[in-house]
Amino acid sequence: MKQAIILDGQQMAQELNNQLKAKISDLKTSIMPTLATIIVGDNEASHIYVANKNKQANNVGIQTKAFYLTSDTSENELLKLITKLNQDESVHGILVQLPLPKSINEQTIIEAIDANKDVDGFHPKNLGLLMLNKPNTVACTPLACLHLIKQTNCQISGANVVIIGRSNIVGKPLAALLANLDATVTICHAKTKNLKTHTLSADILIVAIGNPRFIDESYVKERAVVIDVGINRLANKTICGDVDFAKVIDKASFLTPVPKGVGPLTIAMLLQNTWNNYTKQLKL
Ligand code: NAP
Repeated sequence: MKQAIILDGQQMAQELNNQLKAKISDLKTSIMPTLATIIVGDNEASHIYVANKNKQANNVGIQTKAFYLTSDTSENELLKLITKLNQDESVHGILVQLPLPKSINEQTIIEAIDANKDVDGFHPKNLGLLMLNKPNTVACTPLACLHLIKQTNCQISGANVVIIGRSNIVGKPLAALLANLDATVTICHAKTKNLKTHTLSADILIVAIGNPRFIDESYVKERAVVIDVGINRLANKTICGDVDFAKVIDKASFLTPVPKGVGPLTIAMLLQNTWNNYTKQLKL
């Protein structure tokens, strides 16, 4: 039995980051790409994620301005900070780490960020442009998935793609991205009947549900490309994906690991989005 080729997201992210670092070090301007990151409250995971994003941004030469707000920060106070950063010409990207405390409406905050400074691709204007196949900033995880799929050299045009998960940050924008590339896309979710009848037709299967090792080989078409978006923290503190790696490796043609698959590439795409916003704002 031929085993799947493992797609090394960590290495791909390193390559993208190295290329970006070279571009930034070649800049002939003193205005450096700058990303503002905001965390509200003391969610431990959010602090770890943002510290990692800031560190990786700094490693490639993107400057960061980190704002740590207490959990009793009001929606108005956060909006005021975002307005200030929208107007600040030295800031090219604004990232508000989700989730926010319940007292703050996330959608209001997402919509308050200038669409040209949105690095997550969550702003309705950017989502709309993606639907129109005129993408501006596209969400980082869908971009990471597309990058991984492209590395397999499989034909996206005409491929049957099945995405399990319909969130606004992964499933829906990824479906638009792949439909724009002429794939035939099916989105499945928790109400989908007979999930296997869909997944077994998938040339490319992308799983983003948040359910540890849910997808085993019985869901996978022979030689399919399988992209595992899931990040699940187990009781023993290890991390696993939504795909049962050990069971699917003998059936798929390509498979992403967790960790070191979609995750590192998602951060690499955040840095790319920051760079793209910067070059557009400076008209470089
Ligand atoms: P989410 O908002 O919770 O959405 C999960 C989706 O999966 C929903 O559409 C849900 O259906 C569907 N679903 C759940 N159980 C299902 C089942 N048994 N069968 C079919 N569909 C099912 O999650 P998310 O934010 O998209 O994240 C999904 C996973 O990806 C999580 O593990 C998250 O940590 C991970 N993630 C990773 C990255 C990365 O950088 N690698 C980035 C983002 C997210 P309904 O809509 O019907 O409820």
